[in-house]
Amino acid sequence: MLQTPLQISSPIRRKGFMFVLSSPSGAGKTTLSRMLLQKDENLALSISATTRPMRPNEKHGTHYIFMDKKEFETTKANGEFLESAEVFGNYYGTPAAEVTKMLAKGTDVLFDIDWQGTRQLAQRAREDVVSVFILPPSMEELELRLRKRAEDSEEVLQHRMSKANIEISHWNEYDYVVVNKDLEESLQKVYSILRAERLRRERQEGLQSFVEQLLKGTVA
Ligand code: 5GP
Repeated sequence: MLQTPLQISSPIRRKGFMFVLSSPSGAGKTTLSRMLLQKDENLALSISATTRPMRPNEKHGTHYIFMDKKEFETTKANGEFLESAEVFGNYYGTPAAEVTKMLAKGTDVLFDIDWQGTRQLAQRAREDVVSVFILPPSMEELELRLRKRAEDSEEVLQHRMSKANIEISHWNEYDYVVVNKDLEESLQKVYSILRAERLRRERQEGLQSFVEQLLKGTVA
């Protein structure tokens, strides 16, 4: 016969983690990120700072925090970036304050950053980073997708194609790899990773005392 519960167990809380998506441009990472954010309420996007010029469809504070090189360098020197890197001749960095706040309240944070940034995050807090590399199904498909997007000049496009090889060469530094052949299928895969990672034992704070109370039969 079960005892009447004597006390209400302490709740199982979870701290947020950093969910990183990387890929060469055109592999579908930005679309996947957008879809994930729409699908999941407990996921928030880390908005990076960059020195690259704003594209016509972009908004300051929504897509990036656009800053000049001097401001970027000052922010970096003040230790206000969690990570930063030079990509395609421009600087990119993750402002620490917002991310730290979100993680503390249990929100998972999505990062669209390159391999250099992913490496730095992992060096800082390996256990709080889950990284996914998105591969294109082929290099032809990658070029096609970049051309369709037509945001860049031919010169930039060729540059991005050559940089894609370098980015792809870091695939094996990631926890998970998804080949993005079909967007919907890739979304399901990435979403499964997110959901499974949330259940990891070490992320669930209060589990120890929950189990103790469970065994004592005092769980309400
Ligand atoms: P784009 O200029 O096309 O938006 O991004 C170029 C590359 O920079 C992408 O691979 C993107 O993931 C990467 N990137 C964007 N923000 C950051 C950041 O804050 N840190 C790092 N390390 N890479 C970033």
